[in-house]
Amino acid sequence: MKKRVHFKLLDLLHLSSSVSANLLLSVLKMEEKPHKPHVLIVPYPAQGHINPMLQFAKRLLPKGIKSTLATTVSTFKAMQINPTNSIAIETFSDGFDEGGYSQAESLDAYVESLKRVGSETLSKLIKKLDENGQPVTAVVYDGFMPWALDVAKEFGLLGVVFFTQSCAVNNIYYHVYKGLIPLPLTETTVSIPGLPVLQASETPSFIHDFGSYPGYYHTVVNQFSNIDEADWVLFNTFYKLEETVVDWLAKQWKLGTIGPTLPSVYLDKRLEDDKDYEITLFKPKTDACMTWLNDKPKNSVVYVSFGSMAEAEEQQVEELAWGLKSSNCFFLWVVRETEDRKLPKKFKEETSEKGLVVSWCPQLEVLTHESIGCFVTHCGLNSVLEALSLGIPMVAMPQWTDQPTNAKFVKDVWRTGIRAWSDERGIVRREVVEICIKEVMEGEKGKEMKKNAKIWKNLAREAVDEGGSSDKAIDEFIGKILLCP
Ligand code: UDP
Repeated sequence: MKKRVHFKLLDLLHLSSSVSANLLLSVLKMEEKPHKPHVLIVPYPAQGHINPMLQFAKRLLPKGIKSTLATTVSTFKAMQINPTNSIAIETFSDGFDEGGYSQAESLDAYVESLKRVGSETLSKLIKKLDENGQPVTAVVYDGFMPWALDVAKEFGLLGVVFFTQSCAVNNIYYHVYKGLIPLPLTETTVSIPGLPVLQASETPSFIHDFGSYPGYYHTVVNQFSNIDEADWVLFNTFYKLEETVVDWLAKQWKLGTIGPTLPSVYLDKRLEDDKDYEITLFKPKTDACMTWLNDKPKNSVVYVSFGSMAEAEEQQVEELAWGLKSSNCFFLWVVRETEDRKLPKKFKEETSEKGLVVSWCPQLEVLTHESIGCFVTHCGLNSVLEALSLGIPMVAMPQWTDQPTNAKFVKDVWRTGIRAWSDERGIVRREVVEICIKEVMEGEKGKEMKKNAKIWKNLAREAVDEGGSSDKAIDEFIGKILLCP
């Protein structure tokens, strides 16, 4: 009998030798339960939040934990889902079932409705799953939606917050929440435990440009309003990447670093079918990009993307365009459809020998293509983690939100990139774009960055591989779930 149970355990969990006795015990308990543990994953409805949370769910599956992704009705309508996606998807309403955020009159109105209508409809979803014989064990909710913890607690479920921004950024917001950094900032530098001294401009835009987006400011600061009631705090980062700040935050909360959440094929390759983010809100021009890249020499292409949300000023787009042209490098530039009108007239035609502009691309496939030499990025955390994990040096051009802080870390802490400096109007001029690209593609600093990028690539893989810090944190999280009644 004992032997049978052990075989089953190994099948179920692919247990590492480092797995704790607690986890083994809890698995034994699970054997007696009528239902498998079931985690409801609730990301904020945006690409950069869905990707890491869905990937986390995929890491739980081979360890015997079923997950369901809950998203808003309008986001679901916009989703293109790969047939290979292995995670169930359910919806709840944010009050704007047709257009989501774009249907709301302001961000404040959207956030208010997401909370008010979302609390009710997420409750209904949890009840429905229960009635359908799939009772939820734990709710893993996005830090942007702390009200989901209240919903989880109403049902007596485990509530686990998942932060899709870095530990460093969240430590800054936490200090603001605690009133330890009075705003607006009056000093030119900011000192926070676990972080290097930051110039004011290296703090998130909602902090140094206080009042710029009140809705987002409240969202990021209120992430901590009920965090002491959360059963667990998860971050999409890895221990060695943010060691000092992780150690500091771990004194505040029970936390685990479980990233980077790139599909397994790009890191540890343990999950054979995990090759893609599976869900996209934009249609990637895969064939056009890959065919174009295929005949470019090794390390010759600059890849440029500002992610899914940033809206650069028209003048910035124009400066970037001419900077790319004068760098004389090949470039693949993602300009979302809604941003396309900002490109200089005839730019695409004039640069067609050297460049390709697309509305969306399969970023991971692009970054792993051997023709890519550097990544001009807005420094969204996913993009930064992807570049670090794939060993690609960066030109950082942060636009807003957490990006200035991520750019600081890319340049001074992880040392895998250069920050393109802006003028007094906040615009990175074409000459600067050209200098930065040349520095990374051809200069001495670029060589150093590439060396560092390789080191991070290995550390990222180690973290998620069997027995690595992120793998262990996931096992610990599972142990907690399995202990639920
Ligand atoms: N991405 C993509 N194709 C693109 C641009 C971005 O697949 O053309 C993905 C990218 O790989 C990343 C996500 O979209 O996983 C963007 O997240 P990030 O945190 O970098 O930026 P955000 O969109 O949240 O500003």
